[in-house]
Order: sequence, then C-alpha cells, then structure tokens
Amino acid sequence: MTVPFNDLARAARLQHEELASATEQVLQSGWFINGPNVRGFQEEFASYLGVGHVHGLASGTDALEIALRALRTDDRSTVVTAANSGGYATCAAQAMGMSVRFADVDEQTHCLTPVTVAGVVDDDTFAVVVTHLYGTVADVAGIRAVCEPRGIAVLEDCAQAAGARGFSGRAGSLGDIATFSFYPTKNLAALGDGGAIATNRDDLSDRVVKLAQYGWEGKYRAVMAGGRNSRLDELQAAYLRLRLPHLDDWNQRRRDIVTRYAAAAPDGVRVLPVHEDGNVAHLAVVVTEDAPALAEHLAVRGIRTDVHYPIPDDRQPYRQVPEDPGLRVTHSLMGRVLSLPCFPELTDDEITQVCDALHTF
Ligand SMILES: *Cc1c(COP(=O)(O)O)cnc(C)c1O
Repeated sequence: MTVPFNDLARAARLQHEELASATEQVLQSGWFINGPNVRGFQEEFASYLGVGHVHGLASGTDALEIALRALRTDDRSTVVTAANSGGYATCAAQAMGMSVRFADVDEQTHCLTPVTVAGVVDDDTFAVVVTHLYGTVADVAGIRAVCEPRGIAVLEDCAQAAGARGFSGRAGSLGDIATFSFYPTKNLAALGDGGAIATNRDDLSDRVVKLAQYGWEGKYRAVMAGGRNSRLDELQAAYLRLRLPHLDDWNQRRRDIVTRYAAAAPDGVRVLPVHEDGNVAHLAVVVTEDAPALAEHLAVRGIRTDVHYPIPDDRQPYRQVPEDPGLRVTHSLMGRVLSLPCFPELTDDEITQVCDALHTF
C-alpha cells in the first residue's frame, strides 16, 4: 500500500455536499467579489484569532507583499527574516523593492529567536518576518521585545500555523501584523488560491485596505502610492467559512499524527513540531543525520515524502542575496530534514505503516 504525501480529494469528498451547496448559493446570489461571504469570513476569522481586523486577499504571497508595504513608512528598507522557510518572505520583500537580511534559526525549533534577530537588525531594518515554521509557534513576544525599542515591526507569517496558539493568544494576534495563506494544502485550505492579513492595529488595517484596492480611499479616489488589486473571492470565502469550524479538530488530528511518529522514531531522530500545546503540525518533519537515506528507506516501503526546504534562501541559484556565513544552523539543516505524510484524513493504517517503517530505520 502506498501512503500519499497528501491527498486533497479526501477532505473535499468528506465535505462534498456542503461545498457543492455553497457553490450553488454563490452562483444563485450573483455576488462573486466583495460580498457577504468575504465579509462573513473576515469577521469569523477575526473573532477566531482574537484580532480587530482581518482582510481577505488573493494569496499568502499577496498578503506578505501588502503587509510589508503597509509597514514601511519611512526610508528604512531592510526586512529581516529566516533563510530556511521556503523563500516566501524573501520573494515578497524583493518584489516590493526591499532589501533582505537573514537571521539564523534555533537548532530545536528551526524558527527565528530573539537572540538571532538581535544580532542582525540594524538602522535600516523596519520589519522582521517571523515564520511559524511547520506549525511551531515562534517566540514572537521575545522578538518584539528586541524590535519594539528600535521601532521595528514584527510580521508573523502564519501560512503554516492557522489555529496555533502562543502564550498570549492565537498565532496571528501576537505581532504587529500577520499573514495567512489558504493554499489548498494549508491547515485552513481553500479550493484554490486565497490569503489574509490579520492585525490589531487600526493604522495598518487602513493601509492594507487601500493597498489591496488600487490605493483608493473610497471609489476611484487614489490617496496612496503602491496600490494594486488583491481579493479573496466569494466562492473561496464560502468554502473557508465551512472549514473554519473544523480547524481545531483537524489540527488536533495532525498533532496526534506527529505524536505517533515521534514515538516510533528511533533514537537520535527528532520529529517537529514538538508536541507543545500551541503548535499545530502543518508538516511532520523528521530531523536526522542522513535525510536522503531515510527518504530512500521510506520510499521502498511505499511512503511518499518531501523536503521543506532543500535550499536556503541565501544559496538559491539566482543569488540576489549573497550567501551568508552567519547562518550556521540554517545551513546545517540541509540534507537533515524530511517531511512525512501529515494530513487529517490519513487513515490509522497508513499512520501505522509510516510508524513501522520509521521504527526500522
Ligand atoms: C504557502 C506559504 C506562503 C505562500 O502562500 P501562497 O498562498 O502560496 O502565496 C507563504 N509563507 C509560508 C510560510 C507558506 O508556507
């Protein structure tokens, strides 16, 4: 039996009737953009996160670009982020014409820390993008304590952490502003592209609304440079409203899967995210000395795997960012991480098959 790395058809099948009827309702309503489902989802997600404002957008990448643009209010142009998190923040910052500097990540969590951030921020830094990687909630409060005295904002990239909790609330409510992706594999998933920005800051919320709609304040009156168009649509919002009520249960299932993998893993092999209360397990990532050997061992036993992520941002072939020798931990993770199947609809038999294979490595 083959265990797929992911199988999006399973979740769609389980909710088929509801999703089909939501589709029919949107068709009947004649509202396809900026309608009641988008407004409803924004309110429901804001209340779930415990934030003042949520704005639906076209993707997680749009959310990063618009959030960074909203945060930049003076001449400073550098964004600090991690180089091991898939390159999304780097890509967004560069698309906005900003410079990027990398801080190293923690050996245990693979996330930025207050210490690594403190060593890298400088007078040109206006924002730090903290990715809650794999669903592990980073120490946002500690990073804010480093940033706030210097007038540097903290952006949480929650694309992999919808529903996760930090000490003082949900991921997405911990920094100045937060971004989400509803790409179909994410914990809270649309049936296409989608994203959102969450914030408690009214000033940022206002800027985001304008930037996401041509720089407009009201119709056809542009008051802000750098605007564009980015929208969540009514169909995706309707699907997300059907899925948000299940998010906590689905996250619990993901956490249980990671817990089982961790128990089956041989000595010296760690599985992330570690089972702390707030983490949600977007991915189940094994950390081992020889990840390619483990991938081969699992492939022979019918288990599909993937690598998140194989190349740190500062080593990408296009080399817009110079290689950074300070990223000791980031670079040491190359060849040492392997992602296992982890989605709520995995069957118990499939999980057992993965555990058995892991155990014999
Ligand atoms: C998926 C992802 C994004 C990008 O989201 P899109 O909706 O695909 O643009 C950004 N950041 C992280 C950490 C992601 O996992």
